[in-house]
Amino acid sequence: MTKIKLLSCPHCGGEAELRESAAYNARAYRVQCPSCHIGTVPVSVGYYTQFDGRIGVTITPERAQRYVIERWNRRVQGNVNATT
Ligand SMILES: [Zn+2]
Repeated sequence: MTKIKLLSCPHCGGEAELRESAAYNARAYRVQCPSCHIGTVPVSVGYYTQFDGRIGVTITPERAQRYVIERWNRRVQGNVNATT
């Protein structure tokens, strides 16, 4: 399993969590802060005719996890970089 470190919440500094849920009979993953509940959109596992600007993509559980983690981390860094 790919383990990418989750950055802490840009809003409250809490520890974010990778969560799994079932949406439309498919597993979905999202990163969410348990304290203030901000998070990424859920990404479900399966075949997409279009995903993130690409055509015909199969999203595996690992890929879905990596995608939401990267999105979360990018968002955190975007907020932090404002002053540095
Ligand atoms: Zn938070």
